[in-house]
Amino acid sequence: MVENQEKNIANKIIVVTGGSRGIGASIVKYLARKGHTVILDYNKSESCAKNVENELKKEELTVDIFKADVSKKVEAETLIQYALDKYGKVDVLINNAGISQTKLFTDITDEDWYNMINNNLNSAFYCTREAVKNMIRNKQGLIINISSIWGLTGGSMEVHYSTAKAGLIGFTKALAKELGPSNIRVNAIAPGIIDTDMNKEYTTEEIENLEKEIPLERIGKTESIAKCVNWLIDDDYTTGEIISINGGWYM
Ligand code: NAP
Repeated sequence: MVENQEKNIANKIIVVTGGSRGIGASIVKYLARKGHTVILDYNKSESCAKNVENELKKEELTVDIFKADVSKKVEAETLIQYALDKYGKVDVLINNAGISQTKLFTDITDEDWYNMINNNLNSAFYCTREAVKNMIRNKQGLIINISSIWGLTGGSMEVHYSTAKAGLIGFTKALAKELGPSNIRVNAIAPGIIDTDMNKEYTTEEIENLEKEIPLERIGKTESIAKCVNWLIDDDYTTGEIISINGGWYM
């Protein structure tokens, strides 16, 4: 297999938060197949994390699974410390973990709000702050934040989600400026609608209607996000960018 042949060519130590399912799982598999050492973080879905591991095992590839609820400071820091203790560095951190919720603004409770910010935004802050200390010492590193099209345009009935994802965009740009002189790049990917559990509440008819609004006439696949992540890893001059992969839905 071509991917297997690439093993050991450019092995990087990569932490993927929320790697058990959906976009995160796809990123983990794509990068493991490129020969990188990947630490897969999960929170609730241990069996899904094991499925990713088993799929890779069949291809004689490995993944390092670690359980951490990255919405919690101590667990997020433990995840990064685990990677640092075991591998001595973190080359790439992919802040992918996230949750979504659809609710009228006036129905959003304090708990909903803080839960959303903790899972989608504070998680990235906790993991990044811990990883960056090591990256600064090494004078190299890459942070990729998985934001959302709603962070760019705002999503009706997703004010808390849109706020967290817009926060990630500000976080990305400010940090890219601050860490550029340390040769650390910081970028975000803002996907449109991607076929994962996150959108499972949509009916087939709703998906078809959405697809009519998208110039490429289809919702996205997780692999498209993984390919972009891989491109950012191979690249060396892109920083502070928000790359929206959305089939032309928003341009
Ligand atoms: P998904 O299928 O629901 O998967 C979410 C992943 O995040 C799971 O692996 C889950 O792990 C993990 N996760 C959630 N909270 C966590 C926490 N506190 N600690 C550790 N892991 C946590 O969602 P997805 O569609 O792949 O979404 C991935 C990212 O892309 C999210 O940030 C999402 O906002 C963003 N995004 C998705 C879309 C889309 O259309 N799908 C569009 C734009 C942006 P466990 O199950 O193990 O808890």
